[in-house]
Amino acid sequence: MPQPILIANWKMNLSLKELENLANDFKKELGGIQDKDIIICPSTVSLITMAGLIGDSYLQLGAQNVFWQDSGAYTGETSPMILKEIGCRYVIVGHSERRQYLNETDEMVNKKVQACLANNLMPILCIGETSETRQEGKTDNVLHRQLISGLDSVNLIDQEQLIIAYEPTWAIGSGLIADPEEVERVFALIRQTLVNLYPLTIVNNNVRIIYGGSVDASNIAGFSEIELLAGFLVGGASLEVGKFKEIVKFL
Ligand code: PEP
Repeated sequence: MPQPILIANWKMNLSLKELENLANDFKKELGGIQDKDIIICPSTVSLITMAGLIGDSYLQLGAQNVFWQDSGAYTGETSPMILKEIGCRYVIVGHSERRQYLNETDEMVNKKVQACLANNLMPILCIGETSETRQEGKTDNVLHRQLISGLDSVNLIDQEQLIIAYEPTWAIGSGLIADPEEVERVFALIRQTLVNLYPLTIVNNNVRIIYGGSVDASNIAGFSEIELLAGFLVGGASLEVGKFKEIVKFL
């Protein structure tokens, strides 16, 4: 089983100076932890600076997005090859904010997942239903579609690792937290889909399933019974090291 993982998604928050301060706080408070993977995902423009800052700690670096080609005439996009060169190990792919505001489709998400793996980057594939989908009772269909499409032609071999982040859209940044029993049910569904796609040893050893959506120290205990839970993707509560540390302590 891979280690538990905690991902701090700083989104497009903070100035460069504030990002540096936050990274320094993380390094001081959490940089010595070796038995959990702690990943910071700052904005793309700060990645080179961040790589230098966290270099001699156990913190790891992730990007919030990537393009699916290594190079070429793709104005404004970010190459997976260069993310790797900078020192990123992880990339968030298909975050609901990108699906919602930038019209990222399952097809695009799939190309990004493939590009990450081809460049030895670990994709953090985000899936999640909207509140409308939920009300219509279509959650399982949507999650299944996002997973199957996102992993189309992805073989997952040997050392290739994948993280599936279940993030109900309505729970992100809203203060609403998903019912842990429902999360447990969804995790079982995700795992079953993965087992249908990959050998069991690969699912057990190379894939981690995590939850994201308004997680903080006040609600995290509710997730302790979820056996398949390998970690959390945290937005708001990752912008203060004290709050994030409480989550790290829990896992
Ligand atoms: C996220 O951005 O993926 C997220 C889970 O944000 P928040 O924790 O703020 O809901």
